[in-house]
Amino acid sequence: MIKLKIELVPSTLWGMNLRSLLTRGEWDKLRRWSYGKADNRCEICNASGLEQNRRHAVECHERWEYDDINRIQKLVGVISLCPRCHQVKHFGRALSVGAGRYAIQHLRDINDWSVEKAQQYVEVEFRLHTLRSVGPAWRLDLRWLAGGESPLSVETAGRASGKAVSAGVSIVFDDEEE
Ligand SMILES: [Zn+2]
Repeated sequence: MIKLKIELVPSTLWGMNLRSLLTRGEWDKLRRWSYGKADNRCEICNASGLEQNRRHAVECHERWEYDDINRIQKLVGVISLCPRCHQVKHFGRALSVGAGRYAIQHLRDINDWSVEKAQQYVEVEFRLHTLRSVGPAWRLDLRWLAGGESPLSVETAGRASGKAVSAGVSIVFDDEEE
């Protein structure tokens, strides 16, 4: 199993993150809940984040699963990550701000990979991203927000879904077959 993975969101779903779909207060509630359940440590490398000279210690990251057959991006929870691990997750962004080298180094450190292994892995992820960014539209499954584990209310979840719909994204509803 790969300890630290990069996660490239299909380009057609860029901007559909919880931070933008929730109000500031709702997002704060969710991320603080996430930090609390992780005891304010990175859930991948166990760092507190504070030694990384950042303003924030751990950061909240949403976990998505991809159903490539049905083209559904499903929210399966949130985790707390230190800034370095979080930067690796958003590898495309890291590249765009000139932090690709640092991200690769951290990816290698955490997974104990050679340069070649890391390059090969990144290449495969980018190919997958290209495939996911063309073709039929992806739908968004945000039902986790209204589920038992989530600290947010059903109303909040409904409003977040409504916001995604307003932005032109189709949502997976409750009464639907998986
Ligand atoms: Zn970490």
